[in-house]
This record gives sequence, C-alpha cells and structure tokens, in this order.
Amino acid sequence: DAPAAGKVSTRFDLEKETELRFEVEAGEAAEQVDLELLTGMAEVFGSELNRNKKYTFGPGSKIAVFTWQGCSCECKHPPPLSPTSPFPILDTPMLLYLNTHAALEQMRKQAERDNERGPRVMVVGPTDVGKSTVCRLLLSYAVRVGRRPTLVELDVGQSGVSVPGTVSALCIERPADVEEGFSVQAPLVYHFGSTTPGTNIKLYNKLTSRLAEVFSQRCEVNRKASVGGCIINTCGWVKGSGYQALVHCASAFEVDVVLVLDHERLYNELKRDLPHFVRVVLLPKSGGVVERSKECRRDTRDEKIREYFYGFRGVSFFPFSFEVRFSDVRIYKIGAPSIPDSCLPLGMSQDDTQLKLVPVTPGRDLTYHVLSVSSAEDGEEGSKKGIVESPVCGFIVVTFVDTQLQVMKVLSPAPRPLPRHTLLIMDIRFMDMK
Ligand code: ADP
Repeated sequence: DAPAAGKVSTRFDLEKETELRFEVEAGEAAEQVDLELLTGMAEVFGSELNRNKKYTFGPGSKIAVFTWQGCSCECKHPPPLSPTSPFPILDTPMLLYLNTHAALEQMRKQAERDNERGPRVMVVGPTDVGKSTVCRLLLSYAVRVGRRPTLVELDVGQSGVSVPGTVSALCIERPADVEEGFSVQAPLVYHFGSTTPGTNIKLYNKLTSRLAEVFSQRCEVNRKASVGGCIINTCGWVKGSGYQALVHCASAFEVDVVLVLDHERLYNELKRDLPHFVRVVLLPKSGGVVERSKECRRDTRDEKIREYFYGFRGVSFFPFSFEVRFSDVRIYKIGAPSIPDSCLPLGMSQDDTQLKLVPVTPGRDLTYHVLSVSSAEDGEEGSKKGIVESPVCGFIVVTFVDTQLQVMKVLSPAPRPLPRHTLLIMDIRFMDMK
C-alpha cells in the first residue's frame, strides 16, 4: 500500500552487525513508522522479525533494527533529513551484550549440571542508558534458548510490567513481541505509591526484600525458574540512598552478576562494596538510547496507566465506572511523615513510621488519584504489616468525590463490586481524557 501523505518509503540494505535506528515522534500529530524485513534476518531488542510482515511502531517509539548476518528492509517513515527519519549505524555494543548473554547461558548450563541455581543479574546505571532495553534483550535471548527467566522490575518510575508506582516480577515464557514488548500475564505486583524510591526508601527496600523472598520460594519448587535465574531492572537513582538501595537489592536477591551501564564511578563503588564473588561488569550504553525529557517520562507514565484501563493497539478494554461508598472501603497511605527521633514514642523507630499504614479520610483531594486494591483479606487489617507486604490485585482511579453523599466514583477494569476493600493511595494521578 502507498505510504501516507508526507511519508516516504525507503529500502535499507544493512551490513552484518549493524543496526537501523529510528524514532517516531510523540504527540498529537504523530505518525507511525512501518517496517518490513525483505531479505536476511534481523531483530528488534532481541526479538526476531518475520519476513514480509508489516510491523507498525507508534508515537514515541525509539527503535533499533539489528542484524547479525545482514539484511534488507523497507521503512515507511517521515521524509528524509527530519530528525526522526531512519539512519543506519555501524557502531553498536550488541556484540558485548550478546557475549554477556553467552556468559549467563554458560552459568545456567552449569547450574543445570550441578543442581544449583541460575544467575541472578542486576542491571544498574543512571536514567536513559538503556537499562530496560538490555533487560529485554537478555530475557528474550534466554527464552529463545529455552530458558524461563524472571524479570524483576524495580523501576518505580518507568515500569515495563505494571503501572508506575509499583514493583513487580514476571515469569518470561516467550520473547518480547516486536511491537508490544513482553506479554504481561499474571505478574506479581506490589504497591509502592510514587515514582521515585526516595519518597519512602524503607518501603522500597522492604518490597525489594519481599520480591526476593517470593522469587526464592518459587525457585525452590520450580527447577526451570531456578535455573533461568532473574534479570533485575533498577531505578536510575544511583547516589546516596539510591545507591544504598542497589546494594540492598544485590544482597536481598544474592545476585551473582551486576551489569553497570555507562557509569564508571558506580562500577568502582559496587566493586568495592559488594562481596568479591559478585561479578561486576561495566558495559557501554548504546549510542541509540535517547534521552527523555521530564515531560516525556510523564507522558510515558500516563500512557502506561491508560493502557491498563483501555488496552493497547489491537486489544481494547472497556473499563467500568461506578460509585463506591466511603463506608465500604478502607483507604490507607503507607508511611507517616517523618518526625524527629526525639519525638518518637518509646520503642518506636523511624522505620516504623515509614512502613506505617495511615488511614486516609476520603475527601475531594482524592480525585484523580490512582489507588491500588490490596489482595490482603478484608479481615487482615489487624495485621497491618500484612497489607504492606501483600500483592496488589488491581488498580482504580478516583474520578469524582461527593462528600455529601459520602461516595466516590471510580474507574475500574472490572465491574462492581471491588474484589477487596483495602485500598492504598498513590501519589500518582491520572486524568482520564477519553
Ligand atoms: P533506561 O531503562 O535506562 O531508562 P531504556 O532502556 O528505557 O533506558 O531506553 C530509553 C529509550 O531508548 C527507549 O525508548 C528505547 O527504545 C531506546 N533505545 C534503546 N536502545 C536503542 C537503540 N540501540 N537504538 C534506538 N533506540 C534505542
């Protein structure tokens, strides 16, 4: 079919071990880019392309089509010379990434032989160095050779698995879809509540430990999961408490390998601070990784929430809107504002205040907030600790609050009634523009 107005169609012949990079502009007037592989073989972030199949990339996508053997492909894209039109690149770190995969696979083979566990890998680095992309690559390569690795997502700002403000784990059973990424079925998700670990570092570390515990339990009963190991994606905050959180994560998961992307100081610090048997490896970032502005990150977060309620591309969901009586739910915020040590009641520590469940009185200021529906049984408030460490069974957004009638209207993926009555409030807001 003919390219849409303003778009041109170009054939690219790529040499072996090179890649074609392109961006699709974000925003209202955005167009998509179509891609088709004509000859040879190529992959997008570790997922192979089928020949003569049209792939469509939507607004905001930043893509690299890499070929090990050489290939030709056709691209329908905005006019040449625009900053977003595709361009071939000779110099990529893909060979280093593939070698990393090969080394991890060696460790899995050895684990299989010796009846041990497979590699647990933590990927670290500042924001926008391609951490998530490297995770996706390594997971897709692993699953392509028959492994069942687990993705642990600790990036509360840009989660690849669930809505922002959460940490999660997902068993990877097939390579990421070229256009849509990993299929997200039955992830294990915990409520954190904001987009940076710094808002409540105690809670962040607690949830990291919890995920590590659950993953280890699974490894005990599932040999494939144990051999497959895990790839942990982390936040871009690598200083101060952010750095301490990385060290904590390494110890909670007992990681074997740390991949540091493009940050020599962080590499040296981790080499110094982690036990000697942990292999710390410095890897370059890909020149293709595009820096994202604050706005861009916020848009991506918004989009992630929209997807949760409305679906993505081919798959549309139809969310429900209904009223919930204040008296039917209990809303909490995790963490009380910290108070000086000298003012703490005897026997209580700052830790306790950061992990404390604080009841929220519903009012107008709830409007637009995202709330997690805790899977904790309704009788469990007695054990408030249980709620903090219970997974989430879904999310709702408050769209309207009527303080007179004492009800709030919510957007929900499932019809009423809510499956549970314990709700946890996030700092994150979502305005439904549909
Ligand atoms: P981080 O997790 O470190 O914040 P990401 O992995 O999310 O970084 O990468 C940032 C953006 O760069 C993503 O949109 C990703 O698609 C894009 N990207 C990564 N590698 C390449 C590449 N080689 N060519 C083009 N775009 C890339």
